[in-house]
Amino acid sequence: MNNGDSGVFNMIRSARYGFDFRKTISVVVRAAACASLAVIALAAAAIAAPVVQAASSLAAEKGLRVYFVDVEGGQATLFVTPEGQSLLIDTGWDGNNGRDADRIVAAAKSAGLSRIDYVLITHFHEDHVGGAPQLAARIPIGTFIDHGENRETGDGPTVQGWRAYQALLATGKYKRITPKPGDVLPIQGMRVEVISADGDLIAKSLPRTGQVNVACKESEARPADKTENLRSLGTLITFGKLRILDLGDLTWDKEMELMCPVNKLGKVDVYIVSHHGWQQSSSPALLWGIAPRVAIMDNGAKKGGTPSTWDIIEKSPGLENLWQLHYSEEGGAAHNVAPEFIANPQGTDAGNYLELIGRADGSFDVFNPRIHEMRHYSVTVLY
Ligand SMILES: [Zn+2]
Repeated sequence: MNNGDSGVFNMIRSARYGFDFRKTISVVVRAAACASLAVIALAAAAIAAPVVQAASSLAAEKGLRVYFVDVEGGQATLFVTPEGQSLLIDTGWDGNNGRDADRIVAAAKSAGLSRIDYVLITHFHEDHVGGAPQLAARIPIGTFIDHGENRETGDGPTVQGWRAYQALLATGKYKRITPKPGDVLPIQGMRVEVISADGDLIAKSLPRTGQVNVACKESEARPADKTENLRSLGTLITFGKLRILDLGDLTWDKEMELMCPVNKLGKVDVYIVSHHGWQQSSSPALLWGIAPRVAIMDNGAKKGGTPSTWDIIEKSPGLENLWQLHYSEEGGAAHNVAPEFIANPQGTDAGNYLELIGRADGSFDVFNPRIHEMRHYSVTVLY
């Protein structure tokens, strides 16, 4: 449990996929059509007073907006502060006629952006850096942030993606930052602290953390990863009291270093599920240590969403909801969340995104544009 509000959490967990949950806990907005939060607020005004209040204040306060762009099993997560500073974590795949870059630009435009200030590349696999040249051709970018050199060799897609990225940097149009764990990135309006980079991790526990992690004994030791994944540039993003963790594709072995024997991260509100929910990441030591209220998984229909990983996430203490960018075909009926928590269910793939709206008091909403529903997560004191 995250706090003393256990009764509420139990209610949420016991009715996680039921209608009681909506009636009693969540602010759920249903709108016939909604291109923006302002429209949602107008539509909600006709439904019920509490919804009007929540949606109106949300539109007025312009919280942190986070777009989980569907790049079909890669990553592209766009953060936009109330002042309009922007950080994109990863650029999706290359190819596909710029599909992923187009989707990112659509999210950026919807947030009112005409440029992206910072693009953070967690690592140099093609589902993370592949879309960078196509994106740069479509929208101005200020600064790239990455972990340094590509350590993988050969001539596979990873190296090709790395070369294309190097060519982009060589144009001289962009600033580049290569931070170390413990560094705080120079982004205004939210705090972005580097947790992992190029295989290194923060040396000390973050303030007010460092408790013994009892979940370590539930996580078996695994051999050290030898790919770019373990070098992922992972960050903890703090907006007021709201804590969001993104570790890219950081692997199980590195998670154990980070979380055992003591929990160096503490609890978070939102966990952007590492490695698309694949079984190489998301150990119990990590999940049950950070105990997220909400987990958002950027899986594809056929990539990520491993049933064993899904189980570890679902068992996490204090978890209110897991959200998925796609229905996982591997997961089947037993290892997928209810349709209202999925951006792209089985069937035609429309490339739908999810959006999170965070507030400095630690409360947040997750919006599923496909069904025009918004779910509210109230203020919770993690510490
Ligand atoms: Zn990946």
